[in-house]
Amino acid sequence: MIRVRFAPSPTGYLHVGGLRTALYNYLLARRHGGQFLLRVEDTDQSRLVPDAVQNILDNLAWAGISPDEGAGCQPEGAHGPYVQSQRLPIYRKYADQLLEAGLAYRCFATAEELAEMRQNHGGYDRRYRDFDVAEAQKRADAGEAHVIRMKVPAGETIDFDDLVRGHVRFDSAQVDDQVILKSDGFPTYHLAAVVDDHEMEITHVIRGEEWLTSTPKHLLLYRFFGWTPPRFAHLSLVVNISGKKLSKRDGDVSVDEYRGQGYLPAGLLNFLALLGWSNGDNREVWSLEDMEQVFALERVHPSPAVFDFDKLRHINQQHLFAMDDEAIADLLPEWFAKEGVALPERAYLVRVVGLMKQRCALLPDFVGGARYFYADPESYDEATAKKRWKPESGELVQEFATRLEALPQWQAADLEAALRQLCEEKGQGAAALIHPVRLGVSGVGGGPGLFEMLEVLGREVCVRRLRKAAEGLK
Ligand code: GLU
Repeated sequence: MIRVRFAPSPTGYLHVGGLRTALYNYLLARRHGGQFLLRVEDTDQSRLVPDAVQNILDNLAWAGISPDEGAGCQPEGAHGPYVQSQRLPIYRKYADQLLEAGLAYRCFATAEELAEMRQNHGGYDRRYRDFDVAEAQKRADAGEAHVIRMKVPAGETIDFDDLVRGHVRFDSAQVDDQVILKSDGFPTYHLAAVVDDHEMEITHVIRGEEWLTSTPKHLLLYRFFGWTPPRFAHLSLVVNISGKKLSKRDGDVSVDEYRGQGYLPAGLLNFLALLGWSNGDNREVWSLEDMEQVFALERVHPSPAVFDFDKLRHINQQHLFAMDDEAIADLLPEWFAKEGVALPERAYLVRVVGLMKQRCALLPDFVGGARYFYADPESYDEATAKKRWKPESGELVQEFATRLEALPQWQAADLEAALRQLCEEKGQGAAALIHPVRLGVSGVGGGPGLFEMLEVLGREVCVRRLRKAAEGLK
């Protein structure tokens, strides 16, 4: 049984890189009928953000990739607790076990000593590694502050087969005697992650590349405990178009921001999945369900993944376009509320969606980008007016309004026929009326097909707007 975990530190809101990591874990679990866990790694108590866990859970739920087991699940599952700060006795027990086995030692170095070592030796000089064990115990019993460090063996190669990066090797000389238990009784990430991955029966650890250099420490800990390590897969960095690690400066990085802009979960997930994964073909548009069928870590590339905002938009647009009009309309009430536009009647909205779908990349585009479907224009785009509104336009538009009032049918084809006929009678090309009519009813120069738009807007609205434009525009 494949068991994977997403193990965020609640030091901030979920960002897109984190969502990608969660997604890959989720996909591997789904592909193989496995389980996807959520574990909260809150061992660094100084960096906690109070509602970060809630934010992470909310966003995973929004994305449709909620965990099967762990923090936030009802019930949580059989391997809990899933919040590391609630597991302190467990880590203590394992740290003691390593102490007893001589694989770890107490270190009493003070902050000043450590600072001095960093300066003069480039790191911890292992001064307590061979310290008398009984003496160390005595000092600890007397309440002297100390940490527990793992005893990293010298002169060894630590290697493993990463499922994304292939064979990876480290020289143990590069690994310092890592602290595993801090003086406040909290474990470090290394001890906590290894203990939990073991106790929670994790089979595959999928995480960001920034954790690659931690892996030799983890592998040593597995060996110290006599446990079989899981398989590892380290995902590439997400970078901006200049190849630098994606940061706030490049644009939005939190999932909330993308939600707030009206991306679909399916669009964002599709885009994030392609940041490092492909199915070996050039297929670009994927539903979550389709990815679940084929996802494989062997097809995740180790090279940095470029976060291309235009591509994200483009993919989102394709997901919107593939949705049916009713389903899109279901999502729109919150966007009307946000933009302060009154929600139109449902049947009308569905027709607007059908007309506008092709031109909308994000959900709010159906509101802000289609305002003329919900209110008469208050002004007319100046450049368009200058170019398209001729001295004779007013009279033509008035006459067209009069014909529309009398039209027996109100279908796009009838509207088009009426317009063409009027132009012919006046010895004008159709463009002489098409552009002014569009400007008059919408206030802008572009939009969906004119006659479909008029049909949806309805007779009363069209006539009113055309008369107003004919009087107002010069
Ligand atoms: N807590 C780590 C993080 O915030 C998790 C690293 C791991 O998955 O082992 O990314």
